[in-house]
Amino acid sequence: MGVDSFVNWLRDAAGVLHENAAYLTELDSAIGDADHGANMDRGFQAIVAVLDETSFESADELLKKAGMTLVSKVGGASGPLYGTFFLRFGTALAGVAPITAEAVGKALHAGVEGVLTRGKAELGDKTMYDAWAPALEAYDAAVAGGSDVGPALTAAAEAAAKGRDATVPLVARKGRASYLGERSAGHQDPGATSTTLILESAARTLA
Ligand code: ADP
Ligand code: MG
Ligand code: MG
Repeated sequence: MGVDSFVNWLRDAAGVLHENAAYLTELDSAIGDADHGANMDRGFQAIVAVLDETSFESADELLKKAGMTLVSKVGGASGPLYGTFFLRFGTALAGVAPITAEAVGKALHAGVEGVLTRGKAELGDKTMYDAWAPALEAYDAAVAGGSDVGPALTAAAEAAAKGRDATVPLVARKGRASYLGERSAGHQDPGATSTTLILESAARTLA
């Protein structure tokens, strides 16, 4: 897997987040401040602008730049969280060749560790981590069973979707939604929704 695959991922994710911007913002209007779609769209369009003017020699340089772009262009919780995810994901791939299913697994774990370091979320807090955690578990299990990157990411995306759906009844304990307390229950978490879209995009493009 070369740098082109990761370029395709970022472009595909940007397209999907753009198409889903109104939906993500609608989810965030129920339990947040109605900006999650706009935040993700702005951040990923800024990544596309970088891709249009720069060519990258390596996956790690590309993904680190994507992370820094999200940190600098997106305010709110999701900018630093996704920015850190891509920064750590890219850093984990530095000097790695070939990029195998195991290497992508290590990078995913490193990225999610970054999300946890920044956001201090635990499973069940009704955040994006509720999608990331089962995704990592499913990815690892698929690779242990002999799957290559594409099928392992498909398993990860399916697990993320279940984690996303499982956020609906939860009471939020992190981020703006936590200000609502019990009233946050009954709504799907926007960040767990965008994480699922990003993983579905990875499954389509990284193989
Ligand atoms: P903001 O809430 O600052 O407006 P966004 O609306 O872009 O930022 O993103 C909200 C999403 O960020 C939430 O739906 C949740 O998934 C995620 N989030 C918020 N706080 C945390 C945290 N501490 N750890 C992990 N994810 C978080
Ligand atoms: Mg918001
Ligand atoms: Mg906000």
